[in-house]
Amino acid sequence: AKGLILLCRPGFEAECAAEAEAIARHAGLQGRARTAPNAGSVHFVCDELFDWKLVLEATPFSAFVFARQRSVWVDRVADMPQEDRATPLVEAIAALEVQIGRVEVETADTNEAKTLSGFLKRFIPHIERALVSRRILRDKPDLPTLHLFFKDSSQADLGLSRPGDASPWNMGIARLRMPRNAPSRSTLKLAEAFDALMTEEERAQSLKPGLYAVDLGAAPGGWSYQFSERGMHVYAVDNGPLADSLVAAGMVEHVRADGFSWRSPRKQVEWLVCDMVEQPARIAQLVSDWVASGKAKRCIFNLKLPMKKRFEELKRCRQVIDARFKLHGDSYVLRIKHLYHDREEVTAYLAKLPAPPVETPKMSRR
Ligand code: SAM
Repeated sequence: AKGLILLCRPGFEAECAAEAEAIARHAGLQGRARTAPNAGSVHFVCDELFDWKLVLEATPFSAFVFARQRSVWVDRVADMPQEDRATPLVEAIAALEVQIGRVEVETADTNEAKTLSGFLKRFIPHIERALVSRRILRDKPDLPTLHLFFKDSSQADLGLSRPGDASPWNMGIARLRMPRNAPSRSTLKLAEAFDALMTEEERAQSLKPGLYAVDLGAAPGGWSYQFSERGMHVYAVDNGPLADSLVAAGMVEHVRADGFSWRSPRKQVEWLVCDMVEQPARIAQLVSDWVASGKAKRCIFNLKLPMKKRFEELKRCRQVIDARFKLHGDSYVLRIKHLYHDREEVTAYLAKLPAPPVETPKMSRR
């Protein structure tokens, strides 16, 4: 493997690069991240060639916040001749000697790269047919995914990932339909967070009728809507107005209060969500307090990162959360992503893990 191909929101290359270098360093992979301002992609280049499977294992997708998608970079096909671009590309793929279950065609998420879409729509079916006839592309969902990252119509990078260890969406872009009667577009952010940050089992346990949610900074109500639509009760805390339709449906109680000092009338709720625009470390302190103390079983929250030092600020928030859970020696799960529907913020999922069973010491007979 040459390294990693990482896709990110244009403008977040520096964070994505810093994060890739930190993850690689932690995994013992020497190398450097290369990118350009607003490129929408970052290449991490290893100093040595490693087996792609080792690199994949050492850099799990869940470890990345700023990468929307990552694959292990295994080859580059440059200067594809205009009259026959397919042959060199298919030959390079065959040379990998890897059977694949899926092909993901990628570009950066930039206006410049969007001009490639017509070409790719015509070109890719050729490639797929060729890969099927050479028995490289198989109908087996467990096989690795091949990522073809096109810089332009003459250059493609080849990447590999495994299903379940990559974004389920092409280029990491969650194309979700806006529900017609949702109070704000921000509803899509929570919908994406449920999919991107939780397992199917966690969703099944926690998103069902009758459960309670607290929504701090709820107005106009896009996040509350995600719960009320599922038949869940919501305390929507905000001094600002909620959409009438949301309150009228009867599942949402509007609480005009400050989200930092308001306390729930229930001993424990299933969900806390928090979209207040505030200092990230203050939010981290507040939500970890709710979850560590058991007032909420789980939480999804936004951290609005400052333009400068986003990466450092995030590290500080992790430390705040860790310190709060360590107070009583509790374990927790924390997953953070810069979602497609996020802009200057990142979105996190936090839950307390059950304490491991206490081993009863066997009495020794004397
Ligand atoms: N998640 C909402 C939605 O989907 O419609 C959008 C929330 S908006 C980004 C942030 C909200 O946080 C604003 O309505 C603001 O009034 C509220 N807010 C900010 N600070 C707050 C505080 N200390 N207590 C309660 N609400 C607060």
